[in-house]
Amino acid sequence: MNLILLGAPGAGKGTQAMKIAERYGLVHISTGDIFRENIRNGTPIGNLAKSYLDKGELVPDEVTCEIVKDRLARPDVRNGYLLDGFPRNLYQAAALDTFAKIDGVININIDQSLLLERICGRRTCKQCGEIYHVSMLNGAENCPRCGGELFQRKDDNPETVASRLNVYNEQTAPLIDYYTKKGLILNFTGTEAPAEVLFEEIRSALDGLGKRP
Ligand code: ADP
Ligand code: ZN
Repeated sequence: MNLILLGAPGAGKGTQAMKIAERYGLVHISTGDIFRENIRNGTPIGNLAKSYLDKGELVPDEVTCEIVKDRLARPDVRNGYLLDGFPRNLYQAAALDTFAKIDGVININIDQSLLLERICGRRTCKQCGEIYHVSMLNGAENCPRCGGELFQRKDDNPETVASRLNVYNEQTAPLIDYYTKKGLILNFTGTEAPAEVLFEEIRSALDGLGKRP
């Protein structure tokens, strides 16, 4: 099963992606994570991507598409993958059509007035990747699950978030229509309820998808 996860920044894509990938044995491919890892390691891709991530703008399509194409050519994706953060505009979606066969697109809709607070309070575990909101941490500086160090993404600040939301609304949201026309979209509503609630809805839709002839 090859899936795409769509949704505004802060809609909960990362959290759901980890759960979905684990449940269905899919390789989780996050272009944001790939860029952040390259930036950390000071690679040429990282050096190129850094200014775009800092501003909340998209890394150029040619570079991004090449990275995903290479990743999908590796043998470990044979049993399925989950794309998180790609495609992000119509150009990338058309490129993806030339090298991938997608079975479903999970779209998480969310009230955008919730997003700023969510994103700016977000903390991620360096060790296991779990995502938290400060309101759940009671001041803890380490991951409640594995004890790893928690960090705040550099682009999770109000200025960059505003730009990321603009990019989402102008360039990424049209993909909902694109994949609806292909009959691939599965719509969900992100809420303030615990992530498990949304995951259960996604799980039951994906179990249905798996049973299609
Ligand atoms: P979020 O969805 O919370 O904004 P991501 O980790 O998906 O976070 O993306 C972070 C940043 O990485 C984006 O703002 C952008 O600069 C870059 N990026 C991620 N995916 C893509 C993509 N498909 N195309 C271009 N840039 C991307
Ligand atoms: Zn952890």
